[in-house]
Amino acid sequence: MINFSKRMTELSNFPTEELAEELNSSDANSVRERIQELRTTIRYHQHRYYVLDDPILSDSEFDTLFRELQALENAHPELRSDDSPTVRVGGVLSERFEKVRHPTPLLSLANAFSETDLHAWRERVKRFLPEKRRSELAYGVEPKFDGLTVVLHYENGRFVLGATRGDGEYGENITPNLRTVRRLPLEISSGSHPVDGAAQAPQKALPPSRLVVRGEVYVDKADFTLFNEKQVAAEERIYANPRNFAAGSLRQLDSAISATRPLKLWVYQILILEGEANPPTTQRESLAYLAQLGLPVCPDVRHFEDNNFEELMRYLNEFGDRRFDLPYEIDGLVLKVDALPLQNLLGYTGKDPRWAIAYKWAGVEAVTTLLDIVVNVGRTGVITPNAVLKPVQITGVTVRNATLHNEDYIRDLDIRIGDQVVVKRAGEVIPKVLRPLMEMRQGNEQPWQMPATCPVCAQPLVRAPDEAATYCVNSACPAQLVRAVEHFVARWAMDIDSFGFKQAELFVQKGYIKDLADIYHLPWDEILQLEGYKEKRVEKLRAGVEASKDRPIHRLLMGLGIRFVGGTVAELLMQRYASLETLMQASTADLSDIEGIGPRIAESVVKYFSLEPNRALIQKFAAAGVRVAEERAVMAPSAAQPFAGLTFVVTGTLPTFTRDEAQDFIKAHGGKVASSVSSKTNYVVVGENAGSKLTKAEALAVPVLSEAALRTLASAEE
Ligand SMILES: [Zn+2]
Repeated sequence: MINFSKRMTELSNFPTEELAEELNSSDANSVRERIQELRTTIRYHQHRYYVLDDPILSDSEFDTLFRELQALENAHPELRSDDSPTVRVGGVLSERFEKVRHPTPLLSLANAFSETDLHAWRERVKRFLPEKRRSELAYGVEPKFDGLTVVLHYENGRFVLGATRGDGEYGENITPNLRTVRRLPLEISSGSHPVDGAAQAPQKALPPSRLVVRGEVYVDKADFTLFNEKQVAAEERIYANPRNFAAGSLRQLDSAISATRPLKLWVYQILILEGEANPPTTQRESLAYLAQLGLPVCPDVRHFEDNNFEELMRYLNEFGDRRFDLPYEIDGLVLKVDALPLQNLLGYTGKDPRWAIAYKWAGVEAVTTLLDIVVNVGRTGVITPNAVLKPVQITGVTVRNATLHNEDYIRDLDIRIGDQVVVKRAGEVIPKVLRPLMEMRQGNEQPWQMPATCPVCAQPLVRAPDEAATYCVNSACPAQLVRAVEHFVARWAMDIDSFGFKQAELFVQKGYIKDLADIYHLPWDEILQLEGYKEKRVEKLRAGVEASKDRPIHRLLMGLGIRFVGGTVAELLMQRYASLETLMQASTADLSDIEGIGPRIAESVVKYFSLEPNRALIQKFAAAGVRVAEERAVMAPSAAQPFAGLTFVVTGTLPTFTRDEAQDFIKAHGGKVASSVSSKTNYVVVGENAGSKLTKAEALAVPVLSEAALRTLASAEE
């Protein structure tokens, strides 16, 4: 992740004479051209990938183009641009959200909950239209996405502003965060994207001079579920539903966090359109036009003539049945009068447009009996009370268990065993008990008490005075090790095929697993003797364990189960450090320096690696052949890091290294590379024609090294 604001500060210190030195004018133009060409080509392929779902380059071919652009932009910061495709990966830090006035008020919709409501709406629409216009009536039916409404502004084809709906009149400016939504085109054309699979980017026709559209940022159910599972595993906050997730992700002050969230976008309404010779005259044409411009438009849209209203009703019901199979969450369907002139004639009633209505299905809550409350021991020893429910159907799924969070939650809501309780299932998260129905109490319901001892190891449970959670603090509690193994092998961590809770429990109980690295030393011959573990099954398990050795290191890091280190945090950390070895040596200050890593996370990581058994565990993984360093690290995983804690600046032309090779060499030995000399620089590596950086190094009395001295330093300290 690029720390953009910091990078900008470094750049402003960048001496201009040095710019001239690095960029002699003869190759400046060709670099600029190449950057332009790469940006256009990358945008084109992103459009094919994210919007058309029809990529023609392989991921690695695409990555090659992308990395070339990144490298050129890094080498030529003055050619950076806010709308470069590379800006999507990382973050400008907003000060706070600025208020944006919407060009037209964003209205909400009236709701219909039954067919009767819909017939009434249709009758009202007809009543308000002059008789001779009624024959033009037709309707569009679109999904009502459960996400965050956004307003996107394009000027002369460029995305210039994006805002939340806010109160309908004013929204919040979240432009930098919206830039990280990959489906959002930063540039639109007049819509001449070729469909013949040509690898060359198309020639652009003129885009409209101004376009403001309304859309919805959302998350696919599968991505949302996986994200929450990872959060649960890392004991970080989970989002209650996809809407919350989208809002929470986009309303981050740090767009680097938004960039790590799997957000998607649909646009569905034109608010302002200027400079278009043939503007659309119906909603159907509007959607086609938006798609033509390269904006993402949901394909699940249907069109019905007024005399087919019965068919429209059948469609609503049929869609209601299959809504759970859609990849994204919807909370209803929207019916819109198709012709824009008719919409204008119909106008508004109070705050709702008369020309549209939202049709909603029944809710996601149910009432059932709370049969019992049991507690589970988590990976970190945290004790979670769970509700055992009389099975109940909610949105097509049988719910038998629900979370009760913690002791306070149960006490504050006065939830008792035997109560009738309201259970909510939303967005595929673990269902939860919302509240008891006091009015249905019989008098024989039993208040619940947190047990005094751990249900697994029988040691006393502890509750910290300022925390809601209760813990089993016995570090030898087998339940914790089982949970730790379960977390390690889970699909969001090391993803070991056919390995789950049952195997974790069995292998811990048998004494095969005493720490996580024992997973790579399982006694396969003994396991073959266990009941239910026939050759084929053991082979599969063994192959799964083998395959996991080569996972990206952020997965291993996440699998360790360090407090607050979820998937996102692990990725941020491993983007900065090439190996666990170097990460281990980082201080809280080093870690807090990374965009998106706060002091709480930094302390937790440093504390974890300060414990000798944990450091030994990493060595044990490395010895078992588990990947503990990125391939880009030149050195062996367990070798020492002679440059750890040192910051280098490279300048001038070195005898054998290119600039990149020198930087890689330094990083591979655990050092950091900065782009400008400061009092924090430990060494400046200089070659021929070193410019102002050498002068500055001398002024600050920073030691200067030749390439040969750099190599000697690396080997001398090994
Ligand atoms: Zn215990």
